[in-house]
Amino acid sequence: MIALSAIEKSFGANPVLRAIDLDIPEGQVTALIGPSGSGKSTLLRCANLLEVPQAGTLTLGETHLAFRPGHPPARRDVLAVRRQTGMVFQNFQLFPHRTVVENVMEGLVTVAKWPPAKARTRALDLLERVGLAHKAADWPASLSGGQQQRVAIARALAPSPRLLLCDEPTSALDPELAAEVVDVLAGLAGEGMTMLMATHDLRLARRVADTVVFLEAGTIVERGSPADLFGRPEDPRTRRFTRTLL
Ligand code: ATP
Ligand code: MG
Repeated sequence: MIALSAIEKSFGANPVLRAIDLDIPEGQVTALIGPSGSGKSTLLRCANLLEVPQAGTLTLGETHLAFRPGHPPARRDVLAVRRQTGMVFQNFQLFPHRTVVENVMEGLVTVAKWPPAKARTRALDLLERVGLAHKAADWPASLSGGQQQRVAIARALAPSPRLLLCDEPTSALDPELAAEVVDVLAGLAGEGMTMLMATHDLRLARRVADTVVFLEAGTIVERGSPADLFGRPEDPRTRRFTRTLL
């Protein structure tokens, strides 16, 4: 489904990802945990080519890319990867001057060139799915953080991505609003959505992830089921880190 292999990413002289191997089978959810600066966001961004690694390979569906310094990926490959991925950010990043339904339609109309009426129908379906059909005509600013994040999830799903990338989707939210977002993500996981998420939210990782990966200083230290990684971590570094999570 998605496979990242031997990924290396540096910013200048600062190596941020080293020899990362990550394989997410279709329909499975992987959660990345790790200290601030360990490279979680960078790894998510490499998966949709917002960042381009210096070495390694990326396979996503039929698209296969090998990275070499000085050889940026072909535009056709970048577009193929972008088409197959959706991304949800910590701070929602909705368009403030567009209504809720317009936010969800936007990519379908401007990128995928759908006729607006068809895009609106799909957007309303997705809003229904995240429990927000009744907010379709409202402005993002009038919604709670949890509702805004659910709109952002609907928007990310609009082009039917194979892979949903979520960067700390609940960390800007109070616990009860985070719970709404966890419910939506758990529902998607239950329907077989393939996901890669970075999170500090133990409830989210436990409820939604099939595999938890602990990243430290750009290296995968340990991976396993949520029960193993949180309950019986093997590496002392994992043990130390998981104790800091609530
Ligand atoms: P957090 O938990 O705080 O979100 P993270 O695990 O997501 O942290 P990253 O944002 O991936 O960590 O950052 C990893 C390292 O890469 C950090 O040292 C960061 O300063 C550096 N870095 C990230 N993006 C860039 C960039 N565009 N230019 C230079 N350095 C960067
Ligand atoms: Mg981050």
